[in-house]
Amino acid sequence: MEVIGLVEKMQQASENLRLSGKALALVPTMGFFHEGHLELMRVAKKHADIVVVSIFVNPTQFGPKEDLNTYPRDLEGDLFKAENVGVDLAFVPAVHDMYPDRFQTTVSVQKATKHLCGLSRPAHFDGVTTVVAKLFNIIKPHIAVFGQKDFQQLVVVTRMVQDLNMDVRIVGVPTVREPDGLAMSSRNSFLNPLERESALCLKKSLDLARNLVARGEFQASILIKGVKEMILSSPFTEIDYVNLCDPVSMENVQKVEGETLLALAVRVGKTRLIDNCLLSAKLLRRI
Ligand code: AMP
Repeated sequence: MEVIGLVEKMQQASENLRLSGKALALVPTMGFFHEGHLELMRVAKKHADIVVVSIFVNPTQFGPKEDLNTYPRDLEGDLFKAENVGVDLAFVPAVHDMYPDRFQTTVSVQKATKHLCGLSRPAHFDGVTTVVAKLFNIIKPHIAVFGQKDFQQLVVVTRMVQDLNMDVRIVGVPTVREPDGLAMSSRNSFLNPLERESALCLKKSLDLARNLVARGEFQASILIKGVKEMILSSPFTEIDYVNLCDPVSMENVQKVEGETLLALAVRVGKTRLIDNCLLSAKLLRRI
């Protein structure tokens, strides 16, 4: 696996690969790899000749009081894992190369960012879309792979690609979970053993909502109440949001009709975790 640090070198390498007729897939990440990241790389391999993984803890998507400085990092371990799953090229740029002096351009998706995580993290998605647009321009991938664990991010990036006619196909990958159900996340490493146990309430509350829908409960207010009660009955939890929304616009819905996204963000101790699942009244009624 080749490791490239400089933007200019990466651009040249991608250009050469494209000219030689290779299909390129990009997996953008912030590193500290777990099985969720590795699954994205495996999916990328199925779709392309060459898999590029970017590892960049992007400062512009963190708020001033967020965990940029403590965000977990393990570059050596990441490169080892990526090589093991067959990644061809790792792009590991420095912050000053991605954001040189006088940098002043932002890519901003207007509406889908104004809900869920966008409310408690106001500059977050502008940071995400700007860095993803930059990565697309540097790496020029034919496809890019994102996890459904960050469902709103997947929606926002898809919107950006459509709105700006970027020639990249976005592929979404289902959330990879620990055996006990906790969605894998680099931030899980912040949880102490008691918090780790308590964090299971996120997945359990999604399952509760699924069961309620399967029994014919479609009212958002009732489903949200049940989910919140389950989360708050676990220790160390503080709810940021529990929302039922349209999985394209991200706007809240009153009832589960067709496909509906149940999304939640919960602080467990000091660690903010997110999770989600799709609910569908139609599908479940047929069961
Ligand atoms: P991150 O390094 O947290 O920015 O994540 C990089 C990519 O991995 C994003 O597209 C995430 O949605 C995806 N990802 C993170 N955790 C998971 C998971 N548990 N399952 C599937 N994809 C994930």
